[in-house]
Amino acid sequence: MSPRTLTIALAGNPNSGKTTIFNNLTGAHQKVGNWSGVTVEKKEGVINRHGYELKIIDLPGTYSLTPFSIEEIVARNFILEEHPDVVIDIIDASNLERSLYLATQLREIDCKVLFALNMADMAQSRGIKIHTETLSDLLDVPIVFTVGNKNEGMDALLKKAIELAEKTHHIPEGRKVRYSQDIEFAISRLQDLFQKSISGALPYNDRWTAIKLIEDDKIVREQVLILAGDSRQMVQDEIQVARRYIMDRFDDDPEIIMTDERYGFIAGIVKETVTTSARQRVDISRNIDRVLTNRFLGFPIFVFFIWAMFQLTFTVGEIPKAWIQSAVSGLSSVLDLHLSDSLFKDLLLNGVIAGVGSVVVFLPNILILFFCISLFEDTGYMARTAFLMDKIMHMIGLHGKSFIPMLMGFGCNVPAIMATRTLESEKDRILTILITPFMSCSARLPIYIVIAGTFFAGRAGTVIFSLYLVGIVLSIVTGRMLRSTLLKGLDAPFVMELPPYRVPMAKSVMIHMWERSKMFLKKMGNIILIGSVIIWALSAFPRNISYSNDFAREIQQLQQKGAQDGQAAADDTARMSLEKETAASIEAIKRIMKAEKIENSYMGRMGKMIEPVFSPLGIDWRGSVALLSGFVAKEIVVSTMGILYVAEGDKDAEALRTALLSSGMTPLSAISMLVFVLLYLPCLATMAAIRRELRSWKWLLFSIGYSTSLAWVMAFLVFQGGKLLHLGV
Ligand code: GDP
Ligand code: MG
Repeated sequence: MSPRTLTIALAGNPNSGKTTIFNNLTGAHQKVGNWSGVTVEKKEGVINRHGYELKIIDLPGTYSLTPFSIEEIVARNFILEEHPDVVIDIIDASNLERSLYLATQLREIDCKVLFALNMADMAQSRGIKIHTETLSDLLDVPIVFTVGNKNEGMDALLKKAIELAEKTHHIPEGRKVRYSQDIEFAISRLQDLFQKSISGALPYNDRWTAIKLIEDDKIVREQVLILAGDSRQMVQDEIQVARRYIMDRFDDDPEIIMTDERYGFIAGIVKETVTTSARQRVDISRNIDRVLTNRFLGFPIFVFFIWAMFQLTFTVGEIPKAWIQSAVSGLSSVLDLHLSDSLFKDLLLNGVIAGVGSVVVFLPNILILFFCISLFEDTGYMARTAFLMDKIMHMIGLHGKSFIPMLMGFGCNVPAIMATRTLESEKDRILTILITPFMSCSARLPIYIVIAGTFFAGRAGTVIFSLYLVGIVLSIVTGRMLRSTLLKGLDAPFVMELPPYRVPMAKSVMIHMWERSKMFLKKMGNIILIGSVIIWALSAFPRNISYSNDFAREIQQLQQKGAQDGQAAADDTARMSLEKETAASIEAIKRIMKAEKIENSYMGRMGKMIEPVFSPLGIDWRGSVALLSGFVAKEIVVSTMGILYVAEGDKDAEALRTALLSSGMTPLSAISMLVFVLLYLPCLATMAAIRRELRSWKWLLFSIGYSTSLAWVMAFLVFQGGKLLHLGV
């Protein structure tokens, strides 16, 4: 006999520890996908425990079950339509009041609810004591204490859930939220109406349906009106009457009154069930916030943190970078020695190792950057930045909340664009997604380091910092412009959540950092590898090129002449200097050959073709090709430059620097190129993310077109303006 299957859904506020508990329960048996039709992540896992097959689902984190955000709709629909056997509400016990809003809403739906009072450790250390029996009694809900990050209470939780599922449980009417008399009257009128005018069964219990109608819940109203059939108009009128009835008595929207009453109910519960010991009452988080979100201190502290983050990324990152650098060139020279000349060797050395090697050296920088971002996130500081940036973000017509995805954009635009899911208004999302690519991501960093390092040596850090600033300023300008044209509208109101500060767990920070860096490594293994090979192939073919001169014969003649002169030489010193001279001349010819070969390669031809577009920006055909290759991934720009500029020998960063200096690039054209790199079209992965998140080709094309034109115009202004002012020419 196959075991009985139970479906258990985990609901809860964001940050309540849902995912942690989900991971504890399901371990490796997870399946990650999307909820159908929307871009909200769906995680589910199936485990066998206590003779049952348990299907566990991690619902999106929400504060409420109103149909305002995608997350709320997804969570609500799952509970209403899929009828899970048990819903476990993960509650942050150190923040009971806030968590209870969702909890009371869950109690209003006909489903079996179980509370997991998570963060029991935090509650205890803050001196918060919760009287579970009273709470359990007041809401008629079983309760289990858990500490998610220490894997405590998981088994008890599962046992309770199974017990609850098996109980032929009658969900008592008496212990739900009670509203004031007038509202209860309106509710019961609607309940009566359902009995009279709606023949088929309502999909949900009638009290809940009535409450939703009074709250003007569009989704429920549509469903009810369809069921009403012929009496549609009458039902619609009755709903209006019920809403009017409340509005007349409270002089406010019914949904506001209901929310207020729920909070009142919750405040009552909290009063009866929570005691806080006097000694601990001074909330630590609130004290920290007094400094970190202080009107005067907050902003400078924030800027300092960001500055420190970049400082750490660049200075500390340099050390392991040097190690990787020498490992790569070591590998390269070993292979060079032991492999005989062939097309394969060329591919391996100049394609694969040169390409991937030039990118892998930046792994330490990127790890550090992601480490810092994870640290901001896990301590709860990230949420404060939203608060601090609120005023500035309002200049763009956005909330502080949009700042979080933008800050993450410094790491990588892809997760940043995904993070916009937390924004409630569609227009806010679109706007945030459109300006996020101007946040200079870590993939662009290698390009800055190479070019700025070459042309501005000591001042490279300042140049790079200014680039980041330019990105930020242009995102503000763009935001303002779009807000007053294509994306007109007010910013939707929202509650600025200030979750408590937490001492981050090393493990959790590491996991977050690793999850982000994994993407970078994966990219190395596929996109960058393939891109480098393609770029190499384009530069290595066609093989038989007709050179402008018979260089092979020239070299031969030089060698012969060298040999003859050598014999005729007076003494050893003279002979040696002659040999040196010959070798140098041969080397020079080889360089010319290589240059001609590249110029005549497919890549060279492409470069020449697009050169007219870039020459007004002071970028030569090699730079143009490099920029073109950045379409795949920005990291590839560096390796393409390596292939194109560096003639022979080692293709490490040092060689590239020397080559760039003698390539005709000036500090001015270097800046122009940097500006172009900062702004031009996002990489393939980012484009895919934009398309996925906005589900629109139109906005994707807009983003590509806008950013690339902006890049060209800005670079043009920099280069031509600089030339007019006789800067660096
Ligand atoms: P979700 O947003 O609800 O999925 O929350 P997460 O599972 O991502 O947890 C948010 C943070 O809380 C993580 O850093 C967890 O390590 C931490 N966390 C989870 N459970 C507990 C707990 O019981 N006690 C403490 N102190 N931290 C916890
Ligand atoms: Mg989660």
